[in-house]
Amino acid sequence: MSRDALIQELRGIVGDRYMLIEKEDVVVYEQDGSIFQVMPEIVVLPANVEQVSEVVRAARKAGVPIVPRGSGTGLAGGAVPAEGGVVLSLARLNRILEIDLENLLAIVEPGVINLDITKAISKEGFFYAPDPSSQAACSVGGNIANNSGGPHTLAYGVTTNHVLGVEVVLDDGEVVWLGGRVPDTPGYDLCGVFVGSEGTMGIVTKAAVRLMRTREAVRTLLAIFDQPARATRTVVDITAAGIIPAALEMMDRLTINAVEKGAPCGYPTDAAAVLLVEIEGVDEHAERAMALVKSICKQNGARDVRLAKDEADRQLLWKGRKGAFGALGLLAPNYYVQDGVVPRGRLPEIMARIADIAARYELLIANVFHAGDGNLHPNILFDLRKPGELDRVIEAGAEILKACIEVGGSITGEHGIGLEKKAYIGLLFNAEDLAAMTRVRQAFDPDGRFNPAKLFPSPASCGEVGIKPGKIPAGLWI
Ligand SMILES: Cc1cc2nc3c(=O)[nH]c(=O)nc-3n(C[C@H](O)[C@H](O)[C@H](O)COP(=O)(O)OP(=O)(O)OC[C@H]3O[C@@H](n4cnc5c(N)ncnc54)[C@H](O)[C@@H]3O)c2cc1C
Repeated sequence: MSRDALIQELRGIVGDRYMLIEKEDVVVYEQDGSIFQVMPEIVVLPANVEQVSEVVRAARKAGVPIVPRGSGTGLAGGAVPAEGGVVLSLARLNRILEIDLENLLAIVEPGVINLDITKAISKEGFFYAPDPSSQAACSVGGNIANNSGGPHTLAYGVTTNHVLGVEVVLDDGEVVWLGGRVPDTPGYDLCGVFVGSEGTMGIVTKAAVRLMRTREAVRTLLAIFDQPARATRTVVDITAAGIIPAALEMMDRLTINAVEKGAPCGYPTDAAAVLLVEIEGVDEHAERAMALVKSICKQNGARDVRLAKDEADRQLLWKGRKGAFGALGLLAPNYYVQDGVVPRGRLPEIMARIADIAARYELLIANVFHAGDGNLHPNILFDLRKPGELDRVIEAGAEILKACIEVGGSITGEHGIGLEKKAYIGLLFNAEDLAAMTRVRQAFDPDGRFNPAKLFPSPASCGEVGIKPGKIPAGLWI
């Protein structure tokens, strides 16, 4: 099928208004939150599952790739149309279809914004637990595809722990449910396989998600340290004492300064690091656990520990953390967010190695991360306009990931592999492992039509490390 015939067919499915091909219309879909850009050639915005299914059939007939896209906040290039074809935006499938508080579940479309689920049920005393820091913008479909985490992952787990079932459109346009409304269904856990598949197995068009009761008490504390190693040691000691905070986040001096420069929330700019610790539960539990946390902070030399006085104070502390990534833009024109994970006990060591990498590459690295999970986000600050700087940034990023593997960790804590890290996956898995994973993918998508060029390196480059992000040339039709 020619490109023109496909455009004609897609126009018939979604209507003129929701079929985009002009440069000025498609340019906003060329990038996600990563540093990869590829100008799409065709973007469609279907209104319902029937249209999604027809679009998939049409793209299959034309033999072109289909790239699902949620809100485009992904940080690994997952929604970037690296091999051309059709970008399929789920933004218009944005309804909460059912809320069943008796059974603690909701049925939602994939384009629903994460925070909107909690907003819809908070008055009744319920919430949706997965809360990426991008939760005011990212979609539930994108969260499912990336198996996203967030500040509260430590206590509540990642997205897969909160998804009971998904309705998906398969490569031939068929619509099926994997999993359902109950925690377990007989046979293979295909819903579990699908969550985290990064858009390479099909398109999520509905999801059954778990809801939770809002906790009776929430206590939030800011602990202030003059040495980063003391802060990381405190993280290790808190969990070793058997306390599982709802959130245990760390920010270093560079990040604190960026936050205070942008939207100040009272973090001390002369501190080397701060920890944000949140405890939830019944009143008595929260009180006792927080007292223990305070004493562990003090034992580890915290300069000060500040308990949020009230809800407004608590929101202010969180505003700083949730706005930290945006605030980094005040320090440098560009930054490259890395996403690695290490066993919690190795945090002090890995932070020292990151500081050493920053010094050796003469780069500034700001750290803001889910310390309780051992999930690191070193943000390498740079200026893309300076010749050669991006290359150094990429090399430093690769060294950080290798260091994570060396201490027993992995190359993504929550952002996924996408385009960004597919060249590094060979550092973790051998060729046989990758071939086995590819066969799982092929069971869903035999022609590799969904989101090609993501997750897996080409067979010839399993061990390759040198990826080249930045601007990838446009014009990749078929
Ligand atoms: C400031 C900031 C903070 C962030 N904080 C966190 C954090 O704390 N934790 C975290 O995990 N992530 C975080 N992220 C990363 C990002 O928000 C998550 O990865 C999020 O889940 C992406 O959702 P999205 O809707 O934007 O998806 P997109 O970026 O549009 O897509 C992400 C992937 O999902 C696929 N996809 C999207 N929708 C569907 C669908 N319906 N069916 C199948 N595949 C689909 C895409 O093809 C792509 O591979 C952050 C990002 C930013 C910018």
